[in-house]
Amino acid sequence: MAVIGGGAGGLAASIALARSLRSVIVIDAGSPRNAASAHAHNVLGHEGVNPLGLLAKGRQEAEAYGVQFIDATVLSAANRTQAPETLGFDLETSVGISIEAKRIVIATGLTDVLPDIRGWPTGGAIPFFTAPTATATRFRGQNIGIIGTTAMSYHQAMMFSQLSDRVTFLRHNAPAPDEAQRRMLDSLGIVYVDSAVEAVERTESGTVVTLRDNDSMTFDALAVGPYFRANGEIFEQLGGTVVDHPTGMGSSIPAEANGATDVPGVWAVGNSADISAMVVASAASGVLVGAQVNAELIMSSVS
Ligand SMILES: Cc1cc2nc3c(=O)[nH]c(=O)nc-3n(C[C@H](O)[C@H](O)[C@H](O)COP(=O)(O)OP(=O)(O)OC[C@H]3O[C@@H](n4cnc5c(N)ncnc54)[C@H](O)[C@@H]3O)c2cc1C
Repeated sequence: MAVIGGGAGGLAASIALARSLRSVIVIDAGSPRNAASAHAHNVLGHEGVNPLGLLAKGRQEAEAYGVQFIDATVLSAANRTQAPETLGFDLETSVGISIEAKRIVIATGLTDVLPDIRGWPTGGAIPFFTAPTATATRFRGQNIGIIGTTAMSYHQAMMFSQLSDRVTFLRHNAPAPDEAQRRMLDSLGIVYVDSAVEAVERTESGTVVTLRDNDSMTFDALAVGPYFRANGEIFEQLGGTVVDHPTGMGSSIPAEANGATDVPGVWAVGNSADISAMVVASAASGVLVGAQVNAELIMSSVS
């Protein structure tokens, strides 16, 4: 069994498989999506845990069950055959190690593609965030600017209005509000600014946003809806097709509720298959898929 990606989804899948006495190898490039965050929230029993610390602990637990790890990127994957009884895959890694696997769990997560705005943060230089659920306490009551990217940004503004009565919606690339969205903004007291954002800059007094007409506004923090692009290259090499999310907010590997994809022998977990999965949901999907793959392997050995 090969698990590609060692975030919450991949680690949980590897543990579930190894506990069923499957031989498992995890190949992980080591860039979980929330690596830059100091704390992960809504992680039951571990509220505020450091994301990398949580994964290090998960890896230790996996190793204790015999899971092997390769710190590398899977560069390419090929199906040896699509016949159910002889399913098999060949993987090539960035460290020159080749791997043969009977089944593959894709746990490669997604990439947050941020809007093209001058001065946009790298390395956490500007406090910005995407989901109110992950940041509820930190920015409570603050002066928050929402940078619109899609129609779903209005929903994001609505959610943030529960955390603060100082929310401003900067339209940027989002479509103009329809009547219902306009009513929602008005009734929740969200200030609407119909302008693109040219630049952002962190200053001592806050985050300064320069608008297209050169006006500027200062916020305590910014929220933005990135494009959530599935890391689906390996899936596509194996013959699958990554699909657009119906909201236009991103893309994902199409998988059934049990993680099965339409490529025989290939399963998908976590953010690669579900743009909305947070840490616990990603781990939960990994546990489920681990059990499903184990059952499928037992079934395939029944003559
Ligand atoms: C800024 C930010 C803050 C967040 N805060 C929270 C929070 O507070 N609480 C919460 O529950 N969720 C939070 N999330 C969401 C959380 O990051 C995801 O739910 C979680 O990381 C998904 O786990 P995953 O295993 O699917 O993917 P990831 O954690 O992204 O792991 C994917 C792994 O696969 C590896 N990989 C990718 N391609 C390859 C390849 N070809 N070969 C080998 N390895 C590969 C990557 O390097 C990475 O290590 C936050 C997200 C962001 C962006």
